[in-house]
Amino acid sequence: MKALWLAAALCVAGSVPVGAAEPAAAKPDRGVWVIRDVTVIPADTDEVLAHRTVVIREGRIAGIQALGALLHPAGARYIDGRGKFLIPGLVDAHVHIATEGALRDSKNPLLAGLDTGADHVYDRHVLLSFLKAGVTGAANLGGGAHSDEDLLWLRDEIAAGRILGPRLYVAKRINGPRAEVASPRPAEVPASKPGAPTTAADGIAAVRAARERGYDFIKPYQFLNRETYQAVVEETRRQGMVSSGHLPELGCGVCADRAFAFAHPLDNIAHSEELGRYGRESDLAPRDIDALAERVARGKIGVTPTLITLKQILHMYVQREVPPVPGDWLALVDPVTRLDWAPANNPYLSAKFRNQDGADTFSAGYDFSRLLTRELWKRGVPLTVGTDAPLPGLAFGVSVHQEMIELREVGLSPLEVLRAATVNAHRLFDRQGGSGAVRVGERADLVLLDADPLADLRNVARIDGVFVQGRWLPAARIEAMLKESDREMRELSQRLQARQAAAERSKPAP
Ligand SMILES: [Zn+2]
Repeated sequence: MKALWLAAALCVAGSVPVGAAEPAAAKPDRGVWVIRDVTVIPADTDEVLAHRTVVIREGRIAGIQALGALLHPAGARYIDGRGKFLIPGLVDAHVHIATEGALRDSKNPLLAGLDTGADHVYDRHVLLSFLKAGVTGAANLGGGAHSDEDLLWLRDEIAAGRILGPRLYVAKRINGPRAEVASPRPAEVPASKPGAPTTAADGIAAVRAARERGYDFIKPYQFLNRETYQAVVEETRRQGMVSSGHLPELGCGVCADRAFAFAHPLDNIAHSEELGRYGRESDLAPRDIDALAERVARGKIGVTPTLITLKQILHMYVQREVPPVPGDWLALVDPVTRLDWAPANNPYLSAKFRNQDGADTFSAGYDFSRLLTRELWKRGVPLTVGTDAPLPGLAFGVSVHQEMIELREVGLSPLEVLRAATVNAHRLFDRQGGSGAVRVGERADLVLLDADPLADLRNVARIDGVFVQGRWLPAARIEAMLKESDREMRELSQRLQARQAAAERSKPAP
């Protein structure tokens, strides 16, 4: 049970995102774009291609030529790439987006039936904040049933070009009936989960239903019993789907042991802290770092370390405040997420969280995860960049840059971090969709940077513009679109505050 909360606190579907309306008339079209004299960093190899001309046509990279080649495609628009760097669009391999539809249907009385504004302004705002950070892909690791269903709709709207946003990969979370055991917010989780799978047949049925419904991948969660876990993992593979999730719980009657977990490997482990949870069997002994890294490497399992997530949780535990959000990003955090971050609603700032068994190992757990991530990297385990946003302190979009710096700090080179944030994520979530590299024929999800990210990884924040599905969005354009939703976000904030004040008034006097 040690530090169960820390592990379970990761990945509990939390908050909600925001929206910015884009006037339909102003929707950028795709057409033909030519970027002249740009440095291309494809990211699938160590190559850096200076002085290239890149042609983008109808959402795809149509050509990458040495300078001097005469490229004047009919109807082309031109971008001056001199002094600039073209990288693949970034992917957050671990988020929890709550759509406005899910918010309105929430059981939380502060949110239920809430007017979130016209024309999906809230959803649009959230999605634009990803694009502002150059994040053109995001894997959602599951939330409430309604939220997941709504995300499938949103994913398809984005794919059809009707809403601007990152390509979404939507997981179906499959969990056993013990979810309530480790929730940091027990009040929000039903005491028993009717229909939660408890047999192999249940597990198989759950995977098949998810596939039929159109989910992109499966997230097995840790409270499945052994036979169900095994069946979920195996059926996911049989169905040609990918699994990224938690390792089975240890140390209970129906739970697994380490040998079992690695005998039935996931494709990807959604947090390094999942391995840290196993490391707590040996009280986070350094020798266990090697043992765990070796088993992950031998099992050909990928890992999304989410180190920034642990760092922020640790910050809240010790400093008793939400960690600062970089730059001007706090202003973009939507009002519903802010509500979740506020001390009254933030489980990581609660006495209960602080006083739990094993809280004294949080800091060592973060160190363990960092060293473990380093060992995984040295063994060639494919790492991806995930954040668990919008966990308090982690804003959608910019948190990807923060996790990239975390990986840089454990030893990855800037190029390796870039690969983790791009190509590795495509290999994991989008095997049919291409490599995600800057190569001819690939989808034009690209970021144009004003400075070299290989000289200083922090330069990934110096964004000149983003291509999403072949649509060119200069950074200023994204800012302008976000500004358009300012007023509506402020009004949403006022409605929320009014609800909160009313709830305070109706509380019985202490
Ligand atoms: Zn998560």
